[in-house]
Amino acid sequence: MIHEISSATRTFLAEPAQFLVNGKWRQGSTGEIIECVDPASGQQIGSAYAAAVTDADDAVEAAKVAFDDKRWRGKTPSERQGILLRLATLIERDAQILAELETLDGGKLYGSALNGEVPHAAETFRYYAGWVTKLGGHIFEPSVPGRIYHGFTREDPVGVAALITPWNGALVSAAWKLAPALAAGCSCVLKPSEMTPLSSLYLGRIMQEAGIPDGVINILPGSGVKIGAHLVRHSTVAKVSFTGSTGVGRQLMANGAENLTRLSLELGGKSPVLIFDDADLDVAIPTAAEAIFGNAGQVCVAGSRIYAGRKVYQRVVDGLAEIALNHKVGAGLDAASTMGPLISHAHRERVRTMVDRGISDGANVVTGGACGSDDGFYFQPTVLTGAAQETEIVQEEVFGPVVAVSPFDSEAEALQMANNSRYGLAASIWTGDTSRALRLTEDLQAGIIWINDHGIPELAMPIGGVKQSGIGREHGLEGLRAYTETRSVMLRLK
Ligand code: NAP
Repeated sequence: MIHEISSATRTFLAEPAQFLVNGKWRQGSTGEIIECVDPASGQQIGSAYAAAVTDADDAVEAAKVAFDDKRWRGKTPSERQGILLRLATLIERDAQILAELETLDGGKLYGSALNGEVPHAAETFRYYAGWVTKLGGHIFEPSVPGRIYHGFTREDPVGVAALITPWNGALVSAAWKLAPALAAGCSCVLKPSEMTPLSSLYLGRIMQEAGIPDGVINILPGSGVKIGAHLVRHSTVAKVSFTGSTGVGRQLMANGAENLTRLSLELGGKSPVLIFDDADLDVAIPTAAEAIFGNAGQVCVAGSRIYAGRKVYQRVVDGLAEIALNHKVGAGLDAASTMGPLISHAHRERVRTMVDRGISDGANVVTGGACGSDDGFYFQPTVLTGAAQETEIVQEEVFGPVVAVSPFDSEAEALQMANNSRYGLAASIWTGDTSRALRLTEDLQAGIIWINDHGIPELAMPIGGVKQSGIGREHGLEGLRAYTETRSVMLRLK
């Protein structure tokens, strides 16, 4: 059954979407338009005005004025909490529209957008709304001989935060940054990816309706190298939170260096899945398959390297191949589809050439390995074996439905291969031996580790990368503190 797009979404798509600066919707000073293409068909489904550098300057200025006059951070914690809770409810009210936009603009499966991503975005605002009334500092008794002090710390919002998001999971990425930034009391400039600006722009409307004051939230679609880089270099921007590729993250660090801008970087990954001989394969194999074929592998924590114990290796390979072959690759609006397209023609070409190079480097194709239908940007779910560990297909992020499976003979070998990567975002360990699993967590180089599961998001638990997968953490109290400065005050008592 094909899901029919609602009239509300059709109306939203009928005109180029304007962007938000200081509470006003704008067409941009150049009138430049971003064409929004449905990855499932290759057809244009809408458009958005692209922001120019002058618009970015206006947005930063508006955010700074809003920060300085305290129109948001000066509200009582319970008032701000109430607005964020209202926002969560409005996201749920408009879940169908947001899910349709994520499907049309980002190539998601409609069911997973409606039942997974949109509720998760709402939950993110609800989770951080809870922190607004709880954030505070500590009291200290300073040890200065002969004097008495009352010492305390404050957790103050860092200032204007530039939030730069990728195209995979546009709505959730935006929520993961906006919710803690607003909970901390910051004013924000959100720059969504040019590929997927629509859900973020729609979210802007709901944020206004929820009562976020003008200037506190500004949303600017536009090119990363122009608008994104300009925001990072801007002397008024106190904090940049970026999610995207490791290569661009490196450029951001260099660009932010001039003003010593605070940076959080959520970057790429090449996450290992370790399946030991004693694992429950009935759960491990389908979960590992979902970890790489879910969202067509366009997930930062995708389990793109599987290491299986020698005794179960062939069963794992066969099981993955069977699941891959049974996938119905198709448009996200078709309820029968179990895997959608890649985001763009260019990205599909990148995936295809990486797989081709992997094959010429010695990998064997068990299943898949080629593009799917040309009606959209489809790629077949692909299982590779026999790839040498130093080759690109094992070392580099493909960001597509492509998994390299390798056997291991000992725990030490599994650990060595898992850690043999410049990335360190996520990992999973599959075993019936809890002691072994806990032992491995100490040495496995990953920011988040799942035991007997993979890819479960938990807002209360910090997520982020070690090594070249990033700096800083999202979620939990750490995610909130990414948007605060801790300051100390010492009061000398008489
Ligand atoms: P990307 O190319 O790095 O772009 C990410 C964002 O940065 C986009 O909004 C992009 O703008 C902007 N940008 C590009 N160049 C910039 C520059 N010089 N200065 C400032 N901003 C710039 O990443 P992507 O292809 O969109 O997303 C996929 C990547 O994100 C993968 O590597 C994935 O692993 C990573 N990711 C990581 C996490 C995590 O939590 N660790 C989560 C999701 C995704 P335009 O594209 O609009 O030009």
